[in-house]
Amino acid sequence: MTKTSNGAGGQPLENVDYHAIGMSSLDASDPFIIAQRQLDTAAELLALDEPTHQMLRWPLREMHAHLPVRMDDGRIHVFHGFRVQYNDARGPCKGGIRFHPLETIDTVRALAAWMTWKTAVVDVPLGGGKGGIVCDPTTLSAGELERLSRAYVRQMARILGLEKDVPAPDVYTTPQIMAWMMDEYSVIQGHNEFGMITGKPLPLGGSEGRGDATARGGVYVMQEAARIAKLDLGKATYSIQGFGNAGSNAARIIADELGGTVVAVGEIDGTIYNARGLDVHALEEHFRRTRGVRGFKGGDFMPNSRACLELTCDVLVPAALENQITADNAGRVKARLLLELANGPTTPEADAILTDKGVLLLPDFLANAGGVTVSYFEMVQNAYGYYWDLDLVRERLLRKMTAAFRAVHEAAQTHQVPNRLAAYLVAVNRVAQAMKLRGWV
Ligand code: GLU
Repeated sequence: MTKTSNGAGGQPLENVDYHAIGMSSLDASDPFIIAQRQLDTAAELLALDEPTHQMLRWPLREMHAHLPVRMDDGRIHVFHGFRVQYNDARGPCKGGIRFHPLETIDTVRALAAWMTWKTAVVDVPLGGGKGGIVCDPTTLSAGELERLSRAYVRQMARILGLEKDVPAPDVYTTPQIMAWMMDEYSVIQGHNEFGMITGKPLPLGGSEGRGDATARGGVYVMQEAARIAKLDLGKATYSIQGFGNAGSNAARIIADELGGTVVAVGEIDGTIYNARGLDVHALEEHFRRTRGVRGFKGGDFMPNSRACLELTCDVLVPAALENQITADNAGRVKARLLLELANGPTTPEADAILTDKGVLLLPDFLANAGGVTVSYFEMVQNAYGYYWDLDLVRERLLRKMTAAFRAVHEAAQTHQVPNRLAAYLVAVNRVAQAMKLRGWV
């Protein structure tokens, strides 16, 4: 047995062999260890009983698969894929599929845990799950991507479905990939099942407003928080890390709809900065062509993708990957408000530093829950076969995000705790209640 400080309340569990259950790392920066530590703090405050706490510390079930895919050169490459079904007490598991070269089972577990808290905090009748394939999608042709996506569904079909587990896009996965996956699943079932996956293209049962829902939901949360903090978002400056779906849509909504000034964008190749504001539309065009920010004429380039985290701005928007704001750089964060559109961008050590500095933190599974909220709307529309217009989607998203923020804010006031812990209190309590009512614990 491996001893770690990974058990309930920071103690190792005597009966768990951590290597045997496939923990890919026992490092304090491992996202799943972080997710468990965050839960432990909430469990203590909520005085959860031991079985409830243990059920929430671990995924209910998970599947690992090996995926043989014929590459364009005729050879077969075997990829590794995962799907983690963390908790389905409140409804079918829900969460994206990531394609990433550094994917690990622990990262997928952490993300699946965060999906469980995310669906609970916005109070949609879904659980939490996540999937991943270890691959570098930038090196794959469209044909290889399609065959890989279909191979994943062929292996996972037995655990997916409307009533079981409903995937969606995430890092490096797109509406086109969702379409291939839906098609493969439908072929296996012998009939169309549009609702088995969300984030689909509009002609195949996608929802209006799903494309920018993660960013827009975050902006709605930020607007509600700014009202209380008396921060004028139109006069504020913003620095954004990541220019994928969440980051680029956030930049556009901030510039076009809030009238805010986006002063910096960080991407894999570096950070582009202009104190007078970047032209986000021109940057989008540049990014579409080059997949980076280097060479953009409208700002100064710094060859460091994390430089954007430390620049002078009012609002910092991490919208890329986990573990970006750490004990090393948190002290140099200048923003007053942190809008976490990425999953897990801030480590617990960094969290403590930011809290001490008085940064107003809008935690990931609240701030980025707009995506899964519109995914839920998409499932409802698929089930009805009746589709809503964009105004209705946005109106309902606004209502969900505002209610979620208010519940978290109220918990923060009542318990005198930071927003992240408050969000945990709200979400964990809802999942624990569902498990209790079902008689699991
Ligand atoms: N991948 C997104 C997330 O992390 C969306 C999940 C979904 O729509 O199911 O929230």
